[in-house]
Amino acid sequence: MWDQLHRFVFDGLSVRGVFVRLDASLARNLRSHPYPPPLQRLIAEATTAVGLLATTVKIKGRISLQFQSDGPVKLLLAESTDELGLRSVGQWQGDIPEGDFSALMAGGRMALSLLPEQGQQYQGVVPLDGETLADCLEHYFQQSEQLATRILLFNEGERSAGLMIQAMPGLQQHEDFHRIALLAETLKTEEAMNLPVETVLHRLYHEEQVRLFPSQAVRFHCRCSRERCRDSLLTLPVGDLQEMRAEEGETTIQCDFCGERYHFDDQALEQLIQEKQQQAH
Ligand SMILES: [Zn+2]
Repeated sequence: MWDQLHRFVFDGLSVRGVFVRLDASLARNLRSHPYPPPLQRLIAEATTAVGLLATTVKIKGRISLQFQSDGPVKLLLAESTDELGLRSVGQWQGDIPEGDFSALMAGGRMALSLLPEQGQQYQGVVPLDGETLADCLEHYFQQSEQLATRILLFNEGERSAGLMIQAMPGLQQHEDFHRIALLAETLKTEEAMNLPVETVLHRLYHEEQVRLFPSQAVRFHCRCSRERCRDSLLTLPVGDLQEMRAEEGETTIQCDFCGERYHFDDQALEQLIQEKQQQAH
């Protein structure tokens, strides 16, 4: 029942839904940094949301949801692969007061990026418009995609749940969407966190024709590797690499998402410098 995503449609209506619940996949994401509780909640929300959003695109690759602000929370980043491999990270400065999304991310902006393995990347950037992270996403879909969307996010410690109701392109009967969305809003945290998905859908929609598709597993997935760290070191000027080697004799790169450490010793640095010098010729 945990770390599963469920898609469903309302037969005869141009409305679809997604319900997701995260446990181990979220806990692993939260483990990499000692997040203050208010930020931990936001990361849980962003991670849950990006899982829901991954179902709105048909690309082989990744979807990335990013929030940046000049408030106490500097960055909130969550990614999903097309196979629902999730990773997320947050950056903050100073003490994080108890507060909601709009206070912690004052004056911020949101970026939604599609990163296909092949072909053109796409990024939409909008100013944050809403009291909650879910509000901001709803506004984004309304304005950028013209798709009426309702998103509900629930969180208890290292577990979370999310429900998204979305109009499908070509929806004629807007009252259908509004009825379904209003019923979604009656879902309580306790129900979202604890009941089997069939029961959740029955409680909300026993008067509708709901068709539930087979569930999909959600997991933690980080794409970092020694190869990628090597590539990022190779983007440095050769002088920087030489300095690094002379001063430290080694370097370690730690992945911000998963905490994995990649060590490059003196010999590895020398190799990089040689490679860099060969490139220059
Ligand atoms: Zn990693």
